[in-house]
Amino acid sequence: MKNITIVGVGTMGNGIAHVFAQYGFSVVLHDIKQEFIDRGMKTIHANLDRQVKKGTLSEDQKKQTLERLSTSLQLESACRNADIVIEAATENEVIKKELFVKFDQLTKPQAILASNTSSISITSIAAVTKRPEKVIGMHFMNPVPVMKLVEIIRGYSTSDETYALVKTLAEQLEKVPVEVNDYPGFVSNRILLPMLNEAMYCVMEGVATPEAIDTVMKLGMNHPMGPLQLADFIGLDVCLSIMNVLHEGLGDSKYRPCPLLKKMVAAGHLGKKSGRGFYDYTQSK
Ligand code: NAD
Repeated sequence: MKNITIVGVGTMGNGIAHVFAQYGFSVVLHDIKQEFIDRGMKTIHANLDRQVKKGTLSEDQKKQTLERLSTSLQLESACRNADIVIEAATENEVIKKELFVKFDQLTKPQAILASNTSSISITSIAAVTKRPEKVIGMHFMNPVPVMKLVEIIRGYSTSDETYALVKTLAEQLEKVPVEVNDYPGFVSNRILLPMLNEAMYCVMEGVATPEAIDTVMKLGMNHPMGPLQLADFIGLDVCLSIMNVLHEGLGDSKYRPCPLLKKMVAAGHLGKKSGRGFYDYTQSK
């Protein structure tokens, strides 16, 4: 596989594009508005600069990485030469299914169609295409250039060949692929999100402040980041979507999203990306 198309250039899409381009792949980025593409490219530039400063990338490698990236506002032209499309659009089942119908029509028949979804069923996304055996979950972790894990999710119809190709692809990026079956939240978010949700209940019930809760988990449990800081970093809207999928998909009330989380998302306090979540990021901006 040589040509990679990334659809959705937000928090995850720009990181996925960055890593593929850094490892020699030709990458096309697509989003619905030019300003979103520009924001994604700006982040990639800033992250590459940081790597150069740290000495993990040379100026020359940075230049070559940028040369391998191109952008398109037209989904049709973005998909034309793709060997694999990796969808990293908003965590919404309707949006994702609409996109996969289009990918199926716009890509060559042998192209693999992957989703970076955190929790939505790969089986049901695959079912809207005429090639469910070529549909797979490729779940990168945030921030993509730093985190080693890629959870690879096999849908009900995903073929062994598709799995093997995607596993090799992840290894080419020096990532560690882990095979997981299609269940709500897969492994990572089925375990992580209920913990973040519980931390939010602790804030709502006045058990402790966000700072205190994060300090308990960092110093007491040796977590590199506190759960509320991590939730802000993931995006509270993304956290809420995942909790809804767990709640509906597993049907157990222990997965009900915290009312405070719902309220904060309704208020537009989405965490780091909106400037406010459990913490205020407007000063650092
Ligand atoms: P985000 O909100 O930062 O970015 C989503 C991008 O998708 C936006 O730029 C938006 O304009 C674009 N988009 C929406 N509809 C589109 C369409 N029809 N066509 C093309 N682009 C479209 O979201 P994110 O945090 O990057 O999440 C993207 C995906 O990655 C989600 O499925 C999410 O669950 C998953 N994910 C997120 C994280 C995380 O930490 N944020 C981690 C792993 C996986």
